[in-house]
Amino acid sequence: AKTSGKGRCEAFQPSHHADHLERERLQAGLYQALERHELVLHYQPIVDLASREINGYEALVRWQHPERGLVPPAQFITLAEDSGLIVPIGRWILREATRQAAAWQRIDGRAPRMSVNVSVCQFRHPDLVDDVTEALRASGLAPDRLTLEITESLFAQDTTGTTLKLEQLKALGVRLALDDFGTGYSSLSYLRRFPIDILKIDKSFVDGVATSCEDRAVIGAIVALGQTLHLDLVAEGIETAEELAALEALGVQSGQGYHLGRPAPPQYASPGAERRRSG
Ligand code: C2E
Ligand code: CA
Ligand code: CA
Ligand code: CA
Repeated sequence: AKTSGKGRCEAFQPSHHADHLERERLQAGLYQALERHELVLHYQPIVDLASREINGYEALVRWQHPERGLVPPAQFITLAEDSGLIVPIGRWILREATRQAAAWQRIDGRAPRMSVNVSVCQFRHPDLVDDVTEALRASGLAPDRLTLEITESLFAQDTTGTTLKLEQLKALGVRLALDDFGTGYSSLSYLRRFPIDILKIDKSFVDGVATSCEDRAVIGAIVALGQTLHLDLVAEGIETAEELAALEALGVQSGQGYHLGRPAPPQYASPGAERRRSG
């Protein structure tokens, strides 16, 4: 069984021969995936729930594998983390997502916000601040258009190093979002200590928002927390009109989900794509 947790950055301990072979094969391919331009980013809109306007996009990586087709990140991100490949891959993702946002700005006159996932391993690597700086410089994207999505697992250890790096990133002018909020590390004290701007309410709470008073109460509490601590809220995984209505009624400003827009390649996701398709 897989024992190395998400973002643990250490070598994988094979316990099953077939699993091991499969991972070795995928990993060998992953080494070449970057240079062969097999990694692609899809973009999912982040929508203002009241106006239904698109505020921004989350970049989500996929591997366009020559034999396996489009491989989802769940199948290779952990592998990339365990092998350290997440650092060059993450660097490319930062470059590509900021380049895309800047390209959309040239078409639309206005840059959308762009959210990029940063894994724990990539966060802890000494190159992260330089990589973000370089992506902003190369793309010309204004720093406040870029949001880095991190997870609560970062706060489980090494708080001095974590605080320092979060402050360095904030000093660049980028925004910081806490992904999968509510599923991780249980102490909320880090919300006061770390310079977080956005909470992304995990899909597991959103799933029950239209049907369960408990889930509604949890989201209500997150909304209150957000107001008190001046954090923006984004609900993840909105799949139905009922969920959307319930979240809006609770005071959640923005959301993502299949009901609002699926992740799509840039030509289908761009701010002007709908206009271009219909006209
Ligand atoms: P995440 O950051 O929580 O991303 C949200 C995931 O939920 C995405 O899956 C997205 O396609 C999916 N999703 C969005 N709306 C809905 C919905 O309404 N219903 C359902 N069932 N799912 C929805 P995806 O793209 O497969 O990514 C999975 C995870 O892989 C991400 O979770 C993130 O942890 C990781 N990941 C994806 N792209 C990157 C990346 O560029 N870098 C890093 N480090 N991790 C990434
Ligand atoms: Ca995310
Ligand atoms: Ca999430
Ligand atoms: Ca649901």
